[in-house]
Amino acid sequence: MASDDILITGASGFLATHVVDAFLQAGYAVRGTVRSQETADKVRLTFSNFADKLSFAIVSDIAQPNAFDEAVKGVGGVIHTASPFQFQVDDNERDLLRPAIEGTKNLLRSIQKYAPDVKRVVITSSFAAMVDPFKGNRPGHTYNESDWNPLTYEDATKKYVTTEVAYLASKALAERAAWDFVAAEKPSFDLAAICPPVIYGPNTNYTASLAALNASSADIYRLMAPASKSSNDVPTNSYWTCVDVRDVAEAHLKAFQISEAGGQRFFIASGNFSYQQIADIMREEFPELRDRVPVGTPGAGLGGVELYEVDSSKSKRILGIKYRSLKETVIDSARSLLSLEQKA
Ligand code: NDP
Repeated sequence: MASDDILITGASGFLATHVVDAFLQAGYAVRGTVRSQETADKVRLTFSNFADKLSFAIVSDIAQPNAFDEAVKGVGGVIHTASPFQFQVDDNERDLLRPAIEGTKNLLRSIQKYAPDVKRVVITSSFAAMVDPFKGNRPGHTYNESDWNPLTYEDATKKYVTTEVAYLASKALAERAAWDFVAAEKPSFDLAAICPPVIYGPNTNYTASLAALNASSADIYRLMAPASKSSNDVPTNSYWTCVDVRDVAEAHLKAFQISEAGGQRFFIASGNFSYQQIADIMREEFPELRDRVPVGTPGAGLGGVELYEVDSSKSKRILGIKYRSLKETVIDSARSLLSLEQKA
């Protein structure tokens, strides 16, 4: 009989915390991979109500060959969230591309060798794997699951390439590697890929701290951090599409459970947004933040920027996702960041 244990990689992460929660709430036992026992102890505190349903496997570096050989033994499903998402790195290839790509391939190889009960693997990909970075805001285009980021490994390892572009490529190439593995090896599991844009929402793991915020929480915290109001100008977006972390977590659960999701990628996006809209919500909902959050041009919305559209109807149709509003996401993000300030 197949095991009900689900392996979730990178259990210390901002997104993974909500994915672990979604699976625990749904009744599964979860084995999380973390890099150290110290991290396992913090993640355990986060889920103190599920002590008997949560266990850990230490995987100190997903890029190392055979990294997951032990972790996968005995599990019945795998969710792969672990991948570097940071822009302060010394070496794009060593710190971003290899862990993303080799980490994914290592995991799939280990499952094929040591986890015969696994029938489905869900990988956390990204809008980064869909977006064409050469085409800018691409007015007139509607992004959906048929879009692929065209960056190659050769593009991403050129000397002048920025860390941001290398990150985009790391996600595209990791997702491609997963689909290529399944096509070539025809393993006894199938695959679903979750492609979210920038993820905001509550940061609930005991591993979280203001000093080491994950990249997307740092991105929203910029707008409300005590030193952030050096001027009244709201910064212009680099990325214009976002989603709530709880909706992304639910998408992972549903993509694991729903048979029709096998072999599919899903664009998990609530819509386009601007930092001005976030600033407006923060200033309206948190009077105590008004002397921190820049004013900009209240009510300017997307500021007249011509932008691509997003089509996440497939996620609604097949996975049944009902997206939270930007307002709910911003309020819950700000609340959780304020509570991290209290702990700091
Ligand atoms: P976090 O940085 O919070 O989580 C990343 C996780 O991956 C951490 O658990 C981290 O461990 C682990 N990890 C990274 N590199 C390694 C490695 N070499 N060996 C072992 N573990 C490693 O980021 P998020 O939660 O934001 O991201 C989770 C996933 O979601 C990633 O795949 C990311 O690309 C994807 N994503 C995120 C978006 C966002 O806006 N947040 C948007 C779209 C996709 P440790 O904490 O110990 O470093």
